[in-house]
Amino acid sequence: MAAAHEPNARADAASVLDYDAIIIGAGISGMYQLYRLRELGMRVRVFEAGTGVGGTWYWNRYPGARFDSESYSYGYSFSPELLQEWSWSEHFAGQPETLRYLNYVADKFDLRRDMQFRSRVVAAHYRESARSWEVTLHDGSRHRARFLITAIGPLSAPTLPRVEGVDSFAGQSFHTAKWPHEPVSFVGKRVAVIGTGATGVQTIAEVAKTAGHLTVFQRTPNWCKPLHNGPIDAQTQVRIKANYPEMFKRCQETFACFIHTPDPRGTFEVTPQEREAFLEKLYATPGFGMWQGNFRDMLTDREANAVVSEFVARKIRERVKDQKVADKLIPKDHGFGTRRVPMETKYYEVYNQPNVLLVDIKETPIARITPKGIETSAADYEFDIIIFATGFDAITGSFDRIDIRGLGGLRLKDKWASGPQTLLGVQVEAFPNMFMLVGPHTALGNIPRSIEYNVEWVTGLVRYMRERNLTCADARPDAVEAWTDYVKAMGTGLLSNEVNSWMTGVNSNVEGKQTRIIARYSGSAPAYRAWCDAVAVKGYQELALA
Ligand SMILES: Cc1cc2nc3c(=O)[nH]c(=O)nc-3n(C[C@H](O)[C@H](O)[C@H](O)COP(=O)(O)OP(=O)(O)OC[C@H]3O[C@@H](n4cnc5c(N)ncnc54)[C@H](O)[C@@H]3O)c2cc1C
Repeated sequence: MAAAHEPNARADAASVLDYDAIIIGAGISGMYQLYRLRELGMRVRVFEAGTGVGGTWYWNRYPGARFDSESYSYGYSFSPELLQEWSWSEHFAGQPETLRYLNYVADKFDLRRDMQFRSRVVAAHYRESARSWEVTLHDGSRHRARFLITAIGPLSAPTLPRVEGVDSFAGQSFHTAKWPHEPVSFVGKRVAVIGTGATGVQTIAEVAKTAGHLTVFQRTPNWCKPLHNGPIDAQTQVRIKANYPEMFKRCQETFACFIHTPDPRGTFEVTPQEREAFLEKLYATPGFGMWQGNFRDMLTDREANAVVSEFVARKIRERVKDQKVADKLIPKDHGFGTRRVPMETKYYEVYNQPNVLLVDIKETPIARITPKGIETSAADYEFDIIIFATGFDAITGSFDRIDIRGLGGLRLKDKWASGPQTLLGVQVEAFPNMFMLVGPHTALGNIPRSIEYNVEWVTGLVRYMRERNLTCADARPDAVEAWTDYVKAMGTGLLSNEVNSWMTGVNSNVEGKQTRIIARYSGSAPAYRAWCDAVAVKGYQELALA
């Protein structure tokens, strides 16, 4: 347990610390960071709000939850033994399988003994005199460590819509990211789904299979693309396991760590026939290829983007029988790929079912949620179940929910009031010894690939400090400025930065998040790693080390 008093001298500091490092979160990031810090012989504690490991895959148990990354490209790459032991059953595994996988990893590496579940961190304050962090849990207990590592997830702070009566519904209601551990039956039930983002699209396609009646409340349609999932047969399994080194090497080389990467050709450098054939091929290819592997100018050139958008719009019109409904499902305010592209399995066909209704809440906004159901400006709907597929306060949301204070009591939330500023997405100036995994302005993409890199970089820094008896690492302001400028430069010219989405920091369900910011790093993953590697190789001159 933590000492109640502030130590007087730094020399005493180590003796009163409970741990060398505290990690917040037991998802993919927290699990791997624990593994690596243990190798350095450190005393580490992981505090996790949930009752088990897995993060995203622990919380998001909603029907239809599954990968958009190819399963084998998503799993950890650090252990060849693990890679050979684990066999993914599908090209895009469902949530139960991924959660089983992460539990298997936790067992294999005996991770749970340093983890404390049901432990939500409510505050983390830097103690300058002791060069350490004091972390407070929701039960009031306090714990001290030299290093604080946040592994709290870019998509882990769920949000509800800001409408009157949101808590008043008398039937069953669920947020997709707080789904119960017990099965929920929709058979014969009147079900509402609010939200048509990546999660909503997966949920809707699954719920429509059994619901008595399904009403979908859509504010912003998204450009969705068929996932084309399927089982992995024995022969393919052998091939996948034999090819892991090459596959991960490819993920290191591609723009966003996926197995897909942009085609070097420009949209208008090929004949219309070649273009059409290429787009058909991408539409029929499993996974994110249509988004991540399209013509190189698809996300920067308005006309190129319009060609792809029109292609997908045509597909929607072909798949949905009622053309008025099809029209509502076709996005008008953004082009294909400029927001996160939901992957779907027979999503559009759902709207051909007689028991499914699409309500456009831009036309007829939700006025309130009532004990019986949902009232829009045009009608009252009664339901047995309401599902909120309303997503997350992304990227900075999980930070905002913790009272994080650095030097002089500076609040992180205040520091980031007009948008995050970081060094490499890992450090924030005036928050010494705090390292963020998958923090704002880090490379994302196929996220576990970025997580492994982040973890290894942080581990390298910690090792460097311990070898030299250094106890304090703070980001230098000029280095933060340089990185922030680079992040901004990388976003220049991207069509996605002209669109409201969690990627531009806009969330109408969250107060104060109505203005676009540069919320994420949108350069390539190799460029990100090159910058980070250079900082390490030159002895971390971008950090003030003491
Ligand atoms: C439905 C869904 C599907 C996705 N599919 C893909 C995909 O196909 N490919 C891809 O690359 N990415 C995908 N992602 C992104 C996914 O979040 C990352 O791939 C990855 O799981 C992030 O891991 P993490 O450990 O960094 O964060 P998380 O998995 O979010 O884990 C963070 C953990 O921190 C805990 N935590 C947060 N705050 C606190 C606190 N204050 N105190 C204690 N504990 C706290 C949370 O409870 C959680 O367990 C998906 C996300 C969602 C929501």
